[in-house]
Amino acid sequence: MLDFFEILTALKAAALPSGLEARQAEVIKKYASPLCDEIYTDRIGNLVCRKRGEGKKLMIPAHMDVIGFMATGADERGFLRFAPVGGHRPYALPYTPIIFENGVPGYIACDGETPLSSLSDLPETDLYIDIGAKSREEALSLVQPGLCAVFAGAPERCADGTIMTPYADNLASCAALLCAMSEIRFSKNDLYFVFSVQEEVGCRGAKTAANAIRPDVGIALDLTLTGDSPAEKDKARMAVSLGRGAAIKIRDSSLICDRPVVELLRSCAESAGIAYQNEVLPAGGTDGSAMQRSPGGVLSGVVSIPGRNIHTPGEIICESDALSAARLIAAAAQTEI
Ligand SMILES: [Zn+2]
Repeated sequence: MLDFFEILTALKAAALPSGLEARQAEVIKKYASPLCDEIYTDRIGNLVCRKRGEGKKLMIPAHMDVIGFMATGADERGFLRFAPVGGHRPYALPYTPIIFENGVPGYIACDGETPLSSLSDLPETDLYIDIGAKSREEALSLVQPGLCAVFAGAPERCADGTIMTPYADNLASCAALLCAMSEIRFSKNDLYFVFSVQEEVGCRGAKTAANAIRPDVGIALDLTLTGDSPAEKDKARMAVSLGRGAAIKIRDSSLICDRPVVELLRSCAESAGIAYQNEVLPAGGTDGSAMQRSPGGVLSGVVSIPGRNIHTPGEIICESDALSAARLIAAAAQTEI
């Protein structure tokens, strides 16, 4: 199997937000090219890796876009204003280092002395980006409106096989999907591994890819929340934990997974001895819903990697869960559908 941590590190160094996925797509292409028969980028930017088979079409998307920021202008003192790209947790943003697509580093700061207790209701308009500039002209010479930024930082190994990184959602799934591709020996299915764009702004890439590919079955790979930390407000409702294996989704707020796909994934996990847990996510959605609702309908399911602190700069996953997800995807891909 490919080296999960090495790929995750390369992807984090390249990643840009939704709509600007070409840099991470290049990294993926390098690893994916030897593992498939055909590789192409569609008009919207999805990277499609096909491994031909004479059987039915199975589409396996993992979105490669990440959430981030877009500069909207600068004030007279040289501080940048910005708009979010994708769904942020506002309380996680103040006092966070970021880096613009042109390499300019910055720091998200906050107007005045905002008490911690009110951070959860903080309007993003109270935040600004400090790049060290001292005038509007200087700021705009470095960062023009429309330029995008991401959380700074790189994957770090933490306690007991865990990894902390910005953008485990969803670069960990991209790395796991490449690992899965490297495990596939033979399949009758016509396999389409799709590294999709613009999931964080409404599953746009997977929708167009599913419309073009017309798969019979779709299995998305994405992160999910856990209920095992004091920070997760859904802990009472979320039975998923870090370190207990890949999560097989039953339902989220955008998708009721088709039972035949859930059963396929469970039987693959059980016969190959892959650790898994059942996932019922109270909120949120994935590329699975975009596939299910594409013309004619697609039998759809999702394999998830559990993650803490999702959509913050300190997402934490367990490497063994990601590898279980990779093995489960590989097993499902090799089972005739
Ligand atoms: Zn995601």
